[in-house]
Amino acid sequence: MSDLRVRFAPSPTGYLHIGGARTALFNYLLAKKEQGTYVLRIEDTDIERSSQESVDAILNAMEWLGLSCDEGPFYQTDRFELYKSKIQQLLDTGKAYRCYCTTEELDAKRELAVQEGRKPKYDGTCRERSAQPDAPYVVRFKLPDPDGEVCFVDRIKGPITVRNEELDDLILQRTDGTPTYNFVVVVDDAEMGITLVIRGDDHINNTPRQIHLYRALGYAVPEFAHVPMILGDDKKRLSKRHGATSVMAYQEQGFLPEAMINYLVRLGWSHGDEEIFSMADLIEKFTIEAVGRSAGVFNPEKLLWLNSHYIKALDPQKLVELLKPFLVKQGIDFSHGPDLVAVVKGLQERSSTLVQMAEGAAFYFADQPEFDDKTRTQFLREENRQLFLTLRTALVRCDTFEQSTLEPVLYTVLADLGLKFGKLAQPLRAALTGGSPSPGIYELLEVLGRDTVIKRIDGALSKLV
Ligand code: GLU
Repeated sequence: MSDLRVRFAPSPTGYLHIGGARTALFNYLLAKKEQGTYVLRIEDTDIERSSQESVDAILNAMEWLGLSCDEGPFYQTDRFELYKSKIQQLLDTGKAYRCYCTTEELDAKRELAVQEGRKPKYDGTCRERSAQPDAPYVVRFKLPDPDGEVCFVDRIKGPITVRNEELDDLILQRTDGTPTYNFVVVVDDAEMGITLVIRGDDHINNTPRQIHLYRALGYAVPEFAHVPMILGDDKKRLSKRHGATSVMAYQEQGFLPEAMINYLVRLGWSHGDEEIFSMADLIEKFTIEAVGRSAGVFNPEKLLWLNSHYIKALDPQKLVELLKPFLVKQGIDFSHGPDLVAVVKGLQERSSTLVQMAEGAAFYFADQPEFDDKTRTQFLREENRQLFLTLRTALVRCDTFEQSTLEPVLYTVLADLGLKFGKLAQPLRAALTGGSPSPGIYELLEVLGRDTVIKRIDGALSKLV
């Protein structure tokens, strides 16, 4: 075990999105690589916007991706007593104060500042105001040393310095008594012993404020690594306009977690020009220093390419288990008919997603294939009657129904009728599949089996035009 302690701290106000999943992955990988500890903390202090549904959605997505935590999940709503005591500590030591300014007063001050061309910022009125027993209040942090500055070295972005005068007397506790994000995140990261905070760079402006809070509370300041955001192909921040942003939407679209992980890691991290990484590779090769400073660009085609790769590489038996729910969803009854493993082997090469694979499997399990118009008019023609009849007789007679024995049978039919291979294979394939993409003709015959093949040839004979 090393001393490294990292965490992923999602707010349960929606599903786990691509950016959050990447942050979780980077934390997970570094913890595994350095034999540190990966903590999961659910930041649910915003009670209005948080929901159990979102918590479940996030935990499901983490499980699907295989990013199990070493400690947690912890819930901030279980820790309100701790936060209260820390607020009290700051009030008692004069590092925080109660602010009684009303919304109207604050709005008026903000407006005035804007009119006068100043940056709107709380003016500290209540720093000196005496207690008002019955008035509602927020608790504010008393930002120290207005002439000073705060510096830190971000492990991705490099050195960052912010002057204190640019910062505000931050609200630590709202009027309703609930603590705010910037405050609880500091208490929790410190109390949970987090040594490195890896998070999205949308939080980089919070970091100087948080560093002041660490110091005021007497905590050690952790290291920070702010990961650049993810953009769509138009270089705008990734949003629903660019496609699904929820991780589980990709599960539903038939992506494999291996592909998703491989894809997520490459949104910001690289290792030479390598593209394919298993989880084990990543644990060995991942470093924060190789995370780039510029934004990653979301590229759905690449995700699709990776998914095809992992579908091709996966053990067919395992793929069968993953495929079954997708078959069920498409109403495909696979309880009888060809062997699913054999079907999957034939589809692996030509499916980019499990949804596509299920669509491709439909004709195997149908009573009769559905013919698209083109296939029907092109191949189910009266002039092919003799061909179908000859094939039928030959296939009924052949000893075994295996690729190796089927080959000479078809060649005999070809010779008898004086046809070229395509003139036989295309109508036969059409009769068997209805026109769906399918593997080689011999494999197709073997997987469907004699009874189904004969039934489909009969079906075709009854539909000739
Ligand atoms: N709960 C914050 C969020 O979901 C994360 C804060 C952090 O990582 O410090 O954006």
